Amino acid sequence: MLSARFGEYTLYALEGDQFMLDGGAMFGVVPKPLWSRKIPADEQNRIAMCARLLLIHSHKTDRLYLIDTGMGTKFNAKLAEIYNLRQPSGTLQEQILKAGFSMNQVTDVIFTHLHFDHCGGASVWKDEKTSDILFPEANLWVTRSHWNTAIQPNMREKASFLRENLDPIARHPRLILTDGAHVFEDDFYTMVVNGHTTGMQLPVLEDGSRKLVYAADLLPTHAHAPVPWIMGYDMFPLISMEERNRLFARAVSESWLLFLEHDPTHQIIQLEHDGKNFSMAASLKLDEL
Ligand SMILES: [Zn+2]
Repeated sequence: MLSARFGEYTLYALEGDQFMLDGGAMFGVVPKPLWSRKIPADEQNRIAMCARLLLIHSHKTDRLYLIDTGMGTKFNAKLAEIYNLRQPSGTLQEQILKAGFSMNQVTDVIFTHLHFDHCGGASVWKDEKTSDILFPEANLWVTRSHWNTAIQPNMREKASFLRENLDPIARHPRLILTDGAHVFEDDFYTMVVNGHTTGMQLPVLEDGSRKLVYAADLLPTHAHAPVPWIMGYDMFPLISMEERNRLFARAVSESWLLFLEHDPTHQIIQLEHDGKNFSMAASLKLDEL
């Protein structure tokens, strides 16, 4: 498992879940001859994805933050096959142990949003109908605007919010709903964007001179760097494009390190702009920071 010191924090990249999603859905209106040059599709038109989570140990406060929790283990065999869901290097619990921590040392779970590939790993089946949270003592962080969307979803987004994922979060005594951007520590805070879904929060870490941004579904893979190359899953495409245009411009001018959640090949990338569009300028592994 790769780790790195970044400012007052030690970072660990947890790469438990690997899965596949329909390439057409991942690239929206972009024609396949264009996107398949960047990421090849299998015979079922699926592309390889991962859920790369970030575990952050603060040396200032001794808090242990986990960003997102992946797909988890609650999928039945049929869905696991459709998504080709595998955990070759272990479940989330095993990944946290490999990083050298126990589950109950996690003090805070920050959900970028609650689509199933981001929050499924936070709970496991207790019996056929009930799921239990894996972090009973931790604070769970979600934006209020996203929470309201998740519990009363629109018709299109409904399939992304699974009851077995949301119920144990709703019952949790330490669910904390934030109103917009939240400061966890003076060099660790969130930004909120609303194009992929209402109230998606993107954690940002600073080390004095650099910014590392957990890009979540604002930039799921390196191939999604051109502003119009948005996922078919984005709820509000025009907002998404406006946010990507604005934030990617900052990513270039401020040399942001963009931590990619869904790209199985590229962990952290930097962007450039060639006058027409954005693209990947550099790719780093966490231990190269
Ligand atoms: Zn996602």
